[in-house]
Parts: sequence; structure tokens; C-alpha cells
Amino acid sequence: MLRTLLPALAVSLAASAACQASTENNAVKNSVNETAQQYVRLVLAMGEHDEGYVDAYYGPPQWRQQAAEAPPAPAAIAATARQLQAQLPAADEQAATAPDTALEALRVNYLRTQLGALAAYAGRFGSKAPRDFDAEARALYDTAPPRRELSSFDSTLAQLAALLPGDGPLHERVDAFQRQFDIPRAKLPAVFEAAIDACRERTLAHIALPEGESFRLEYVTDQPWSGYNWYEGKAHSLIQVNTDLPVRIDRAIDLGCHEGYPGHHTYNALLESTFVQQRGWVEFSVYPLFSPQSLIAEGSANYGIELAFPGKEKLRFEQEVLYPLAGLDPTTAKRYDEVQALTAELSYARNEIARQYLNGEIDREQAIALSQTYGPTSHSRAEQSVRFIDTYGAYVINYNWGKALVKAYIERDTHSSEQRWQKFSALLASPRLPSDLE
Ligand SMILES: [Zn+2]
Repeated sequence: MLRTLLPALAVSLAASAACQASTENNAVKNSVNETAQQYVRLVLAMGEHDEGYVDAYYGPPQWRQQAAEAPPAPAAIAATARQLQAQLPAADEQAATAPDTALEALRVNYLRTQLGALAAYAGRFGSKAPRDFDAEARALYDTAPPRRELSSFDSTLAQLAALLPGDGPLHERVDAFQRQFDIPRAKLPAVFEAAIDACRERTLAHIALPEGESFRLEYVTDQPWSGYNWYEGKAHSLIQVNTDLPVRIDRAIDLGCHEGYPGHHTYNALLESTFVQQRGWVEFSVYPLFSPQSLIAEGSANYGIELAFPGKEKLRFEQEVLYPLAGLDPTTAKRYDEVQALTAELSYARNEIARQYLNGEIDREQAIALSQTYGPTSHSRAEQSVRFIDTYGAYVINYNWGKALVKAYIERDTHSSEQRWQKFSALLASPRLPSDLE
């Protein structure tokens, strides 16, 4: 009897231990789900104080209504966000109680980090205290961007000067040269449709998107950005192109990939289907702009351009398809591409100008003058660049530093284009944040 009882007892004890572990797992999941819901409500409440804060929301409409009726003050939002952060299971505890997937641990880390950024943003909202660029990058975007002296860009300026010789200031020569590549306003729709079609076709060859995914394209004015993707849920986006300043030919592929495929539209559609629809993880139904998620969004959207058009493929497509559609001379494309490659190297100068400007080391006029020198660009484009910094602060790092982080992560241990696409697609459909990329 004893011999038969013992295994039965062992089974029963094991079952009871498993049952207890599973009850604990469920309790952890329930509490994470509860925190996730409160996180969404807090983000929506913050959006009531700052209309640019909520980039996308497609969860229950009544949550937005409730947030609008009686939004807590920013200081209360910050305090609640910190409390919620403290209630989340600690990293070790999470591994012990919810070992079913590493995904659960990433989820908890995602919530913890996003809540921290919300607390930081809400806690500072409306404050007149001096800003600190690096503190903002850490608190809002979960990263420490590199620093570079502005003088380190002088050799690139010298190369540009050699490429575009002349007597006037370099920014005038560069701007006059680039103006030849403006897309005539009437040709914008044809050029953009062809560009987005190509970005979409190249993306769909590697990434399965939800059936019926779609977007609408609009041309707008008076905005601090050059393009924007508004994700509306159910795999639909509104993509807007700002025509305050003429749009140059190389921006068609850039914006098509960045805003659409495999950029923001793709990222949001994958998050919605993978997490909101398949798992009921409501935190992904809201996207707070000033948060670590934006580094992944902007970094992957910019890396997506070279993933979809590697090497000289972008130049080739522009020469063969977009220049003729825009009524531009394809034989001039190569030289324009060389100039644009050099100006792209100067993008980190913008981070430095933003750092000095936000830290109060230079004033607005000096920021515009430096943007003009290190663009190098016209006064109106330099002004638009500073207007962006006024609106979005340290957000500027998400484009170039975000791209560098995503590129390093994707290209680590991948040896073919297909492997890179698969790793990229997995990154988009994951709760990974900047500190998870290292
Ligand atoms: Zn973007």
C-alpha cells in the first residue's frame, strides 16, 4: 500500500504545487493586466493636458471619454504612474512566477519603463525649471545619446564645399543646388503614390500584415514636422505630408518607408494584431509620443528605408521611376545623392544644437544660425528645424541615434537580407524598448 500510496501522494503533491504556481501566475497576469489598463487611462488623461501626447489610441472609446470628463492633474498622474511602477513584479520575481515566456518579462519591463517615462513627463509638465537635454533623453527615451563637438562636423562641411564650389556662403550654395530637386506641387501625388507602392511591395515580400490593412494620404500645411503617420486602429493609418516647404525628390522614398512600410504604419499594425487582438494586452492600444516606444518607432522607421532599399537601390529606383514622374532630369540624380549622403552625416549636429538650445546655452536666434550653418540649409528650413525642437525637445535623438541602435541590433548576427527582415519584423512585433536592444 505504502509503495502505491507514495507515488500517488507525490503526484498529488506535485499537482498541488503546480496548481499553486499556476494560481500565482494567473494572479501576476491579472495584476499586470490591471496595471496595463490603468497605464492606458493615465496616458489618456495626460493627453487631456497636452494634445500632442497621445499619438494613437484605438482602445475602448469610453476610457477616452472618462479621461476627458475628469482628468487628474499632471502631478497626480506622475504620482500614480510611480505607484503602478512599484506594484509591478520585480524582474527576478517575474522570472520565477511567470516563466512561461520571456515575452511576459519583456511586457513587464515595457510597462515599467513606459510608466517611468510618463511619470517623468507628467512630473515636469508646465514647469519653468531649466531643461536638461541628456536627463530628458534618459527619462523619456530610455537612452544616453552620444555627444559630439560641433567642430567635429567641419570636415564634412569642407567636403560639401568642395563638391559645390562657389563664392557665396555654403548654406546658400547647398540650398540653391537642392532646390533643383524640389518636386513640383502638382506632381506630388503621382510621385508619392509610386514611392509608397514600392515601399509597400518590398515590405510585403517579407512581412505578413493583417488582411485589409490600408492608409489614406493627405497633404497639409503649417506643421512642425515634414510627415506624420496617424494610426487609427484596425490596421488603418492616415499619412500626412507637410507642404509648407517644397518636398525634395529623395523625401518620397524616405517618407513612404518611414511613415508607411516598413515604418510606423507597419509597426502599429503589427503591435495591434500581435498584442491587442491576439493577447488582449491593452497597453499597446495607446501610444504616448514622449516615451521610449518612440525611439523604437523612429529608429525602426528610419532603418526601414535602407532595409527596403539597400545599397544603391534607392538611387536606382529614383532615377528610373521617380525623377521622370516628377519631371526631373535623372542624369543629375547621382550628384544629388552624393550631396544628400554628406548632409545626412551632419544629422548629429542637430542633436548638439538641440542640446545647447534646451540647456539654455544658446538662444533661439543662435540655434537657427547654427542650424543654417550645420544643415547647411536656408533660413526658413533652419527655422523649421528649431520649431521642431521647440515642440518636441530631445525627441530629435530618436531619428539618428534610434536608427543607429536599431541597425546595430538587427545587424548583429544576421548574415542575409532575409535574416535582417525577419529580425526586424520580430522587433516590430515585440515589447522591446531601447534598453532591451543592447
Ligand atoms: Zn516618424
